[in-house]
Amino acid sequence: MRKVEVDKEMGLKSVKEYPPAPLSKPAEGAGGKTGLWRTYRPVVDLNKCTGCRICWAYCPDRAIKLRDDGKVEVDYVWCKGCLICFHECPVKAIDKVVEEFGE
Ligand code: SF4
Ligand code: SF4
Repeated sequence: MRKVEVDKEMGLKSVKEYPPAPLSKPAEGAGGKTGLWRTYRPVVDLNKCTGCRICWAYCPDRAIKLRDDGKVEVDYVWCKGCLICFHECPVKAIDKVVEEFGE
């Protein structure tokens, strides 16, 4: 379901009005920490980020964290590199780079 459809269904004007998810923290499953699955790493450019929270709403692993300044950062322990955030960011504030663990 697209964001606009979610907004319409929930009667919300902005992602910032989304209620906290009931399971809002990632947890380790049988596949271990999902951060180890990455082949690409999303990197947020804080100079471009507007704090719209769309990436936060879309991230399937709750791996986007809200910063005190209203912008976002990626929790690389849990980010599995699906790049949904990269594709959905409306201002192209998220880049993708090849993951090199241990750098
Ligand atoms: S979608 Fe882009 S602009 Fe919006 S909070 Fe995420 S990184 Fe920032
Ligand atoms: S790449 Fe996927 S898992 Fe990682 S922060 Fe973006 S949406 Fe979440």
